[in-house]
Amino acid sequence: MDLNTVEDWVAAVDAEQLRRVHDGDPAVAVVAGGTWLFSTPQPHLRTLVDLTTLEWEPFTVTDGGLELAATCPIGVLDRIPLPAGWAARPLFRQCVRALLASPKVRSVATVGGNLCTALPAGAVTALTAALDGVAELWAADGGVRHVPVEKFVTGNRSTVLGPGEVLRSVRLPAAALRSTTASRRSSLTRGGRSAALVVGRRDPDGGFVLTVTASTARPEVFRLPTTPRPDELAAAVERRVAGAWWDDVHGAPDWRRATTLRFAAEIAEELA
Ligand SMILES: Cc1cc2nc3c(=O)[nH]c(=O)nc-3n(C[C@H](O)[C@H](O)[C@H](O)COP(=O)(O)OP(=O)(O)OC[C@H]3O[C@@H](n4cnc5c(N)ncnc54)[C@H](O)[C@@H]3O)c2cc1C
Repeated sequence: MDLNTVEDWVAAVDAEQLRRVHDGDPAVAVVAGGTWLFSTPQPHLRTLVDLTTLEWEPFTVTDGGLELAATCPIGVLDRIPLPAGWAARPLFRQCVRALLASPKVRSVATVGGNLCTALPAGAVTALTAALDGVAELWAADGGVRHVPVEKFVTGNRSTVLGPGEVLRSVRLPAAALRSTTASRRSSLTRGGRSAALVVGRRDPDGGFVLTVTASTARPEVFRLPTTPRPDELAAAVERRVAGAWWDDVHGAPDWRRATTLRFAAEIAEELA
């Protein structure tokens, strides 16, 4: 839709100019793919700052892991040439497909936009929280901080970003990328928005990590020294989430609870 209160469109060219224009004024927002920003009225906005003109390298593979620029299009994620030993590779495709959107939307919607929109069904939130992603945040005063993705999203449409702060990138460590993963997803309708998206990981050292998204407002991550018994894992998820199952038009909380607990048990069984 047209955002007819917006008067200025600023193409960001470097970090210094970005800090100057995106200084914490609530009438100024950054725009990446624009797929969420232009989908709903934004009457408070006067200025949009385009991050894509910074031309950040979308992804960088090193021995230490994978760095994803905030502006990396989601549609690129499952085409990154990952080293053969990174067994978590199938998870990229599974999470890209979990974004309820056409290839056209996936080709412009970004990693950073997905994390910063912070919907419970955030497919990139699931992928990067499940793989121990660490977000790099740039503040308007030039400060830089690093926050694990599992703590970056704090609730439905809520993150730790302060006024004027920008998500620069997410780093996924090679240790997590080498792990074996299993995922389960459900939605109310065929191809509908995720109502439960659960990812399990078995690390080469035997450690086990379960990440629950879409059925909870924010990612819930469970870390265990070994792969648990299916019933133990389901019980741990039930204890932690308790009555806080997410409730919206994409699924009732009791159904989300039952689906998530079943997925957790299936994943524990599969990874054992
Ligand atoms: C058909 C359709 C289906 C969708 N399905 C899903 C879905 O299944 N799951 C889901 O989670 N979302 C979904 N969305 C919502 C949205 O498209 C995605 O979350 C998408 O990833 C947003 O990315 P973007 O780059 O387009 O963000 P934008 O629209 O550009 O920005 C979104 C918000 O994030 C802020 N932002 C963007 N980048 C940064 C940054 N680097 N630093 C700080 N703030 C930033 C913007 O200011 C804005 O507030 C859907 C949208 C459409 C149109």
